[in-house]
Order: sequence, then C-alpha cells, then structure tokens
Amino acid sequence: MASDTLETTLTSIHEMTPRVKQFILEAGDHTFSYQPGQHVVIKFEQNGDVVGRPYTPVNLPGTGALALGIKRYEDGTASTWMHDRSVGEEITITKPSGNLHLRDLDRDVVFLSTGTGITPMIAMLKQYLSEGSG
Ligand SMILES: Cc1cc2nc3c(=O)[nH]c(=O)nc-3n(C[C@H](O)[C@H](O)[C@H](O)COP(=O)(O)OP(=O)(O)OC[C@H]3O[C@@H](n4cnc5c(N)ncnc54)[C@H](O)[C@@H]3O)c2cc1C
Repeated sequence: MASDTLETTLTSIHEMTPRVKQFILEAGDHTFSYQPGQHVVIKFEQNGDVVGRPYTPVNLPGTGALALGIKRYEDGTASTWMHDRSVGEEITITKPSGNLHLRDLDRDVVFLSTGTGITPMIAMLKQYLSEGSG
C-alpha cells in the first residue's frame, strides 16, 4: 500500500462484549504518535475494491501499541472483516489524523458520547486525567 500507510501486526484480540472486540496493533519497534482523540483508517482490499474505515485508539500515544475498540455490525463491511481477523495477521492503517483532540487541558470539560462513540472520549479522558488541571 502507499507510503502514507503503516503495516501493522494484530498482536492481541480481546472480546469486550458480544459485539465489541479490542484489537492491539503493533508495527515492529514503531512508536505511535498522535493526539488522543485522533483516528487511523484501517484499509484492506475486498472484491477488488479498497475499503477504508476510521477507528480511534483508546490508549495514550507514545507506546508501541495501538488499542482499537470495534463494534461489529452484522451487515457492515469493515467491522465484520476486523472481527474475522486472527492474531498474527497484517493490518494496514493510515497515519493518525483528525481534528478531534483536547485544546486546553486546564479547562473543565464534559464528554458526551453513545455506543462505540466513546472511543475518542476514553483516549481524551486518559490524557485529561494524567495531564489536565480542570
Ligand atoms: C472519526 C471516526 C472514528 C470512529 N471510531 C470508531 C471506533 O473507534 N470504533 C468503532 O467501532 N467505530 C468507529 N467508527 C465507525 C467506523 O468507522 C465504521 O463506520 C463502522 O465500523 C461501520 O463500518 P462497516 O464497514 O462495518 O459498516 P458499513 O459497511 O459502512 O455499513 C454501516 C451501516 O450502514 C449501512 N449501509 C451501508 N451502505 C449503505 C447505503 N448505501 N445505504 C444505506 N445504508 C447503508 C449498513 O447496512 C450498516 O448498517 C468511527 C467513525 C469515525 C467517523
């Protein structure tokens, strides 16, 4: 795939609920750098088409692991593809991007989300609790 993507290995899968799995991605000695709240896009080929869907790491940056929580939609393309993967398989992702991140860690904040929309909130909440003063 293109140079703006990163080849990762699926190193762990944990069933969090009947429909949500946590996936750990690693890329050799690569350290993941991003603003908590930003997302990566998982890319793969299916039936001749390139499919891409955004997913938001729930862990803090600065480690060699990216933790994604993905809800399975029975009629979904990427979520079912991910839920059918096994440890050791290669997963292509884009570099982290997106405008969703905390601007001022010293102001009080309210996070509001539903379902797996909680994933960016978890990352930002972890950052806020470790660095924020609001
Ligand atoms: C910035 C961002 C971050 C995200 N982070 C996460 C995350 O951390 N975890 C997570 O689980 N999800 C996250 N999502 C959602 C994720 O990107 C996918 O949208 C989700 O996994 C569904 O993708 P899918 O390919 O499985 O389903 P899709 O194939 O895209 O289908 C989704 C639904 O739409 C319906 N559908 C598809 N095409 C049509 C059509 N033409 N007309 C009508 N209905 C249609 C399908 O039947 C299905 O119900 C995020 C989304 C964004 C934008």
